[in-house]
Amino acid sequence: MSMSPPDALNYERFQQLQMRLDMSRGKPAPEQLDLSRALLDDAAAAGFRARDGFDCRNYGLLLGLPEARELGGELLGVPPAQVVAAGNSSLELMHDALAFALLHGVPQGESGERSAPWRAQGDIAFLCPAPGYDRHFAICEALGVRMIAVPMRADGPDMDVVEALVREDASIKGMWCMPLYSNPTGAIYADDVVRRLASMPAAAPDFRLFWDDAYRFHHLTDTAHATLDVIAASAAAGQADRVLMFASLSKVTIAGGALAWFAASPRNVAWWQRCTSVRTIGPDKLNQLRHVRYVRDRATLDALMARHRALLAPKFAAVDEVFRRRLGQASGVRWNEPEGGYFISLYGPDGTARRTVELAGEAGLVLTPAGAAFPYGVDPLDSHLRIAPSFPSLDEVRLAAEGIAVSLLRVLETDQALAT
Ligand code: PMP
Repeated sequence: MSMSPPDALNYERFQQLQMRLDMSRGKPAPEQLDLSRALLDDAAAAGFRARDGFDCRNYGLLLGLPEARELGGELLGVPPAQVVAAGNSSLELMHDALAFALLHGVPQGESGERSAPWRAQGDIAFLCPAPGYDRHFAICEALGVRMIAVPMRADGPDMDVVEALVREDASIKGMWCMPLYSNPTGAIYADDVVRRLASMPAAAPDFRLFWDDAYRFHHLTDTAHATLDVIAASAAAGQADRVLMFASLSKVTIAGGALAWFAASPRNVAWWQRCTSVRTIGPDKLNQLRHVRYVRDRATLDALMARHRALLAPKFAAVDEVFRRRLGQASGVRWNEPEGGYFISLYGPDGTARRTVELAGEAGLVLTPAGAAFPYGVDPLDSHLRIAPSFPSLDEVRLAAEGIAVSLLRVLETDQALAT
């Protein structure tokens, strides 16, 4: 069956199609996962002996296989000694880092003495640039960390707001940052934003940036954007322990089944080592080994990412094309054209997002719940929609974009009818 949208699709016709489309989560499509089939097919060929002969089938190497740490170092631009190669998910590292800080405190000052456990320091809070990543916010909620939303701009968080809050309020212990192709706005942190984050005075001496570099390799254009080296910038600013960096190969090879890294100052790595040694005897080094043999180096990774881009970019272009055609003239409607990452942010007039998601849902199109990209799930303007075009096929993406557009247009028409 062709899934080309019928001419003059309106909301009723879209609803009649009852398509069962899902644009709610930023998952890689099966064709993207197929790009790394060799990881499965050649798993046995990767063997179990590390470069130095270490038997990867056995316990040990808490901080990861040396060659996996080196690969992380090369890809993240951090000395390998400051990189930990861990399990399959960077999100779980972020969760653990926050849980460790709450339970045990973090290194503070030159001595590396731990601060008091954050949970013993009373009410604590994180700055949350919004729109942001719903799972970051879920971690804060689950662990009882108060969230303070700060405005997000195209070049990163509003730094005047951030600096004023962090300077004055000692209960602010951390901040979520997604420096490149931020989820879900596509923001790219400007060098000056990174420098200000790295050097700003903080009332809390144990303040940390949770630096989630999830989309570091995920370009959608010919320009491979890169953000300033925040670990070096913070060290240069006398704030060497400020940054905890996280990244993974989830959207490079196998989502949730790849290799995740934690990178930070030597004192933070020592802290991580002490905290994780209670939790595990060591990571899955067989998986690390086969990833190292498969991904190899920066050049191999870049070639693989170009193949991802070839699959992803047409989907993003399709959404943009449909939105331009359908929504280009709609007053108060705008969206971003991300240069990388997995999401498009669509903004309707205030008070329209929730109803758009509802209408789309009634027509069989699942969107991310309105408000999900904001702390506590509340978009104060009820205007933001997160569009995740990666998983469905190109035809489905095109039809889903039409569905989003007709749902939003129906909300606008209803409001107009009520106003007249
Ligand atoms: N961080 C961000 C910003 C993400 O968008 C995602 C995936 N949607 C993750 C982390 C999850 O990464 P992982 O699979 O390594 O846990």
